[in-house]
Amino acid sequence: MTASERIVYVDGHYCPESEGKVSIFDRGYLFADAIYEVTCVIGGKLVDFDGHMVRLQRSLKELDMPVPMSNEDLLAIHRKLVADNNVDEGLIYMQISRGNADRDFNFPSKDTPPVVVMFTQARPVLESPLAKRGLKVISLPDMRWGRRDIKTVQLLYPSMAKNAANEVGADDAWLVQDGFVTEASSANAYIVTTDGKIVTRSLSTDILHGITRAAVLRFAQEAGYVLEERSFTIAEALEAQEALITSATSFVTSVLSIDGQMIGDGKIGPVSSRLREIYIDKAVGARI
Ligand code: PMP
Repeated sequence: MTASERIVYVDGHYCPESEGKVSIFDRGYLFADAIYEVTCVIGGKLVDFDGHMVRLQRSLKELDMPVPMSNEDLLAIHRKLVADNNVDEGLIYMQISRGNADRDFNFPSKDTPPVVVMFTQARPVLESPLAKRGLKVISLPDMRWGRRDIKTVQLLYPSMAKNAANEVGADDAWLVQDGFVTEASSANAYIVTTDGKIVTRSLSTDILHGITRAAVLRFAQEAGYVLEERSFTIAEALEAQEALITSATSFVTSVLSIDGQMIGDGKIGPVSSRLREIYIDKAVGARI
């Protein structure tokens, strides 16, 4: 183990990252038969951990996967990894796979133990460079599978979309299905109309039910913003006053342009800034 190695959690054990190994028979590896959560860490504490646990339980249920351990035990592992790795700001990644079994499209027997893996990644969040600068996005067809509400590790298309964006000098992609924006490669997508309404696609199997989305919409409503949960097109986004995304590690981040065309004046807008402030005040303020 070198001094810079993290301590990770793999299937019941804590070990240095170079020793953290999973089986070639792990169904996460063979079939993307695994779910995950990413929880943000600020000042060594977890943001909206309970929200992530609710979604985790839902993902497990939708895929008929066994619950590996109690939420309290998962919390204890999160806390130990944050402490052992001295994480001030960043994230904890948690993955739960259906476990190890001979390669077979049928699920293995119900008593196959799930495999839980967790590791930390330290990085600036509150003062992240992208949040300070704002994002350039491109639009791409949404070619993901039909159950995007389940947080599976099946992330190849979003990864391809992000790379395609990077190749043309953009930061991310907004995905479009039947003419309407679903979401970003790893975040929920919003526009602010010229009359100040916050618009984001409604919940369905087409998008991930973002934990940050739920919190931001609640706080926005409390702050007196008018919300519209409905689909919107790229053309409408280009006419909007502002565009933005939310996710656990980007919080609220402004989108400055889509497909090379500026949104509004092409600067971080007041609604995005205000929503970010409110989120930091309330959600980050309530971290555990
Ligand atoms: N949509 C997708 C496709 C995502 O991958 C993510 C990030 N996990 C989100 C939305 C945002 O969800 P959350 O706010 O829970 O991070």
